[in-house]
Amino acid sequence: MRIVLLGAPGAGKGTQAKKLIEKYGMPQISTGDLLRAAVSAGTALGKEAKSYMDKGELVPDSVVLGMVEERLKQDDCKKGYILDGFPRNTAQAEALDKMLAALNMSLTGAVSVDVPFEDLMKRLTGRRTCKACGQMYNIYFSAPKKEGACDKCSGELYQRDDDKEATIKKRLEVYTAQTEPLMGYYKNKGIVNSVAGTGSIDEIFSKVCAILEGK
Ligand code: AMP
Repeated sequence: MRIVLLGAPGAGKGTQAKKLIEKYGMPQISTGDLLRAAVSAGTALGKEAKSYMDKGELVPDSVVLGMVEERLKQDDCKKGYILDGFPRNTAQAEALDKMLAALNMSLTGAVSVDVPFEDLMKRLTGRRTCKACGQMYNIYFSAPKKEGACDKCSGELYQRDDDKEATIKKRLEVYTAQTEPLMGYYKNKGIVNSVAGTGSIDEIFSKVCAILEGK
C-alpha cells in the first residue's frame, strides 16, 4: 500500500498512521515529525523550518520536498509507505506525483479523516506526546493514568510548541486555504475516500482498514 492520509491538524492522522504501521508494517513518513527531528537536532534545515512552524505557517516547499524524496528512497519504503501531513498544498501534490512516477512507486490511495471544525481546537490544545516513545494522549479525551507521564513507558509528556492556541488558529486557517483543496485534487484522480474521524480510535481504524483493503 502506498497511501496519503489527509485531514486537518488534530484529525488524528498521526494516531491512525501509528496503528497502520503496527498492522501492515509499512513506514509512516510524517513531514511534521521529520521537521521536528531536524529542529531538535539543531540542523540548518531545522533552524530555517522552526521560524515557520512556530508561526503555524507552512515550511517552504523546497525544504519539505527534498526531505521527503530522501526518505522515500530508503529501503523500507519499497514495501509501501504512509504519507502523513504531506502533501500540504497543490504544488507539493504535483511534485509528489512526479517524484513517485520517477521512483516507480505511485500512490495506490488517499484517505481523508474528517472531523468537525469545532472539535479540532480541543483536540489540539489537549494533545500531549511522550518524549520517549511518541505515544499520544489528550487531556480531555484520552488522559494518561498519571498526569504528565506516559502509561506505556513512564516517559515525560510534553505539549508541542505549535499546539498553543494562537498558533493553532493559524494552522487551521492555513489548512482551509491550502490543504483542503487537495481533496479535489485526489477526487479528480479517483483515489480518495473519506472516513468520519469521530468515535473511538479503534472504530476509526477499522473504517480506514476497510477502505485500504477495498472492503
Ligand atoms: P504537523 O505535525 O503535520 O501538524 O506539522 C507541524 C508543522 O510543520 C506545520 O504547521 C508546518 O509548519 C510544518 N509542516 C509539516 N508538514 C509540512 C509540509 N508538508 N509542508 C510544509 N510545512 C509542513
